[in-house]
Amino acid sequence: MINTPHDLKTYRKGLKKALGNTFLGATLDAFAGAYPASRAKAFAGIDFDALACEIAKAKDESIPNLEKLLEEFTARAQEAGVSVHFARTAFEANSIIASIAKENGVKRIVKGKSMTAEETFLNAHLEREGFEVTETDLGEWIIQLRKEGPSHMVMPAIHLSRRDIAELFSKVTGQIQDPDDINGMVKIARRELRQKFLEADMGISGANFAIAATGTIGLVTNEGNGRLVTTLPRVHVALVGVDKLVPDLKSALRILAALPRNATAQLISTYVTWITGPTECKSAPGSRKNMHIVFLDNGRLALAKDPLFSRALRCIRCGACANVCPIYKLVGGHNYGHVYIGAIGLILTFFYHGRQNARAIVKNCLNCQACKKVCPTAIDLPYLIKEVHRTILNVEGKKPLRNLLLKKALENRRLFHFLLRRASLAQKPLAEGQYLRHLPFLFSEEHNFRRLPLVAKVPLRDMWESINQRVENPRYRVALFAGCLTDFVYPEQGQALLRLCRDHGVQFEFPMEQTCCGLPAQMMGEKETARDVAVQNIKAMDPADYDYILTLCASCGSHLKENYAKLLSEEPALAVKVSQLRDKVIDFSSFMINVLKVGAEEFRRVGGKVAYHSPCHLCRGQGVTKEPRELLSTAGLEYVAAKDEDVCCGFGGSFSADFPEISAELLKRKLDNVEAAGAETLVTDCPGCVLQLRGGMQKRGSGIKVKHIAEVVAEQKQSPQRRRGR
Ligand code: SF4
Ligand code: SF4
Repeated sequence: MINTPHDLKTYRKGLKKALGNTFLGATLDAFAGAYPASRAKAFAGIDFDALACEIAKAKDESIPNLEKLLEEFTARAQEAGVSVHFARTAFEANSIIASIAKENGVKRIVKGKSMTAEETFLNAHLEREGFEVTETDLGEWIIQLRKEGPSHMVMPAIHLSRRDIAELFSKVTGQIQDPDDINGMVKIARRELRQKFLEADMGISGANFAIAATGTIGLVTNEGNGRLVTTLPRVHVALVGVDKLVPDLKSALRILAALPRNATAQLISTYVTWITGPTECKSAPGSRKNMHIVFLDNGRLALAKDPLFSRALRCIRCGACANVCPIYKLVGGHNYGHVYIGAIGLILTFFYHGRQNARAIVKNCLNCQACKKVCPTAIDLPYLIKEVHRTILNVEGKKPLRNLLLKKALENRRLFHFLLRRASLAQKPLAEGQYLRHLPFLFSEEHNFRRLPLVAKVPLRDMWESINQRVENPRYRVALFAGCLTDFVYPEQGQALLRLCRDHGVQFEFPMEQTCCGLPAQMMGEKETARDVAVQNIKAMDPADYDYILTLCASCGSHLKENYAKLLSEEPALAVKVSQLRDKVIDFSSFMINVLKVGAEEFRRVGGKVAYHSPCHLCRGQGVTKEPRELLSTAGLEYVAAKDEDVCCGFGGSFSADFPEISAELLKRKLDNVEAAGAETLVTDCPGCVLQLRGGMQKRGSGIKVKHIAEVVAEQKQSPQRRRGR
């Protein structure tokens, strides 16, 4: 039985232990490092986004009709000689399978890899009933012998080294095994498992597809054990989640075009097996196999009716959302999911294994969007994760104090900004240069991995009138959406923007009623507060009044563009404004390159070496990747590429307060990569990332400066007089 901690404190202990496991870190790093390139190669010539949309659309058409598809499948499969069963719960599914085994005088069972069987804890149930059950997928067999759960949906034993396996096989065989003799170990597995196949009375498989039109199940496998499990023993039981039902072969083939490519970067898996009805089997009475299909509901049919969460049923279990998740890469699946691993695991655990098992793990998400980008069924995983978190908070009715305080502050902009101004006075005794000398008392020592900045003496809004110039006949009217950090911590970023745009005919305005974008509230599961704040901002700046709404904060930009539409979907009166807002919000680099079309002649030709950190909410949230780099080189700076530029820096707003150990490790890796690239300055376009990266560089005493891209580009700007004199 898998034990997932129910409270944050115990959960964090497991995370810290995993972070100390150097083998795990190195293995996951090597795998995750190679995955993006091999995946890209596998999808060469295929429009991934279009395919994902197609699959999502087809799945969304099937999901509300699962019961109808089940009826159709049952009729066709029965015609082909299959007994079809329906289990409402995991226990019912396990009991049905145990009964089939008893009725057929089964003693030994071989099993193919099945996440659905992991979900129901089928092995434990059958063993309690006295059956011998052997997993036959190599990875699954290994973890079965170790009595642990899978750490990845596709590669269940990825957390183990060859030494771990040699030690295990030494116990199994009673002979010392050489960890360097991988072939020898594979032979041992083959020898042991072959015998089990020959002795088995029953084979249990899962299925990747259940095709309603023909009553066919489809299995996508690589080791060949799936074929042996479904063909050799006299009884075959397939345990299938009802979400695997598709109307026809065409729908299954569409999914097959994405599944192996996304899961293991293979164009096609080694075996794809289609089974329609029982086959000939010499060991079965009448030489005909006894075949059963057990469909599992376990909450799926209720989930299918949920307008939002039904999207989780699109999942085809490719495991990619774990492969790219920066947290999974650090701590592995035993600490990043319950039975289902990775981003989808944080969601499904709540629905299939209950609130207790989900409540700690669901908080462990940076909202970095990496999973969303690779999901072949276009599930907005980070959004659903936050929605699960919110649901748990609402059901439990026990909100953390900081949620209540944030809600109180954000509901009233004047109060919120008054508190920020007060903080600037209150911090004086703790100030040391631009930073707090030590952390406020509510933070423990483990939060001390970066230095925290002071709140600015004068926020941007208070200096705005004195620094913003009036422009005669402006080319563009632009509202600046400052966000809390640019406004109250880094006003110099706003000053840099105004300096840069001075001679481009841009009339900037600062709508004074704007407030926090609301993303921190959403990250903490406070959707209602996020919605309130969204309404405040929409009222504060009417998009119709401006050509653009520019923000120097990638997170604010992505939230305004993407999430406001979701948050305000039930406010038809605001629909036009929300849609205008989405179209008019623009990031700094895109504004400079695509709108102002700045040229190299405006800048000094010589500049230092700069590395770039690509904020999650810019590169994935808004799809902006080329403009920042183009702007750096236009501004005469020498851009040096650092490893993993687009991997999250570990900030994630309140995430870094909840999981300082993860945040610190991600930051460390990021800074190591920047140092290795030989940069003098690290540039990014999100004040949240500046806070994390600059605080980290300060803490390690590095000479590398961290700046917002607006600041470094402004430093390179030449006055028009100098340009003319050149
Ligand atoms: S959620 Fe998407 S990426 Fe994750 S396993 Fe399912 S299909 Fe794959
Ligand atoms: S948003 Fe990022 S941190 Fe959260 S689950 Fe997805 S990949 Fe992991």
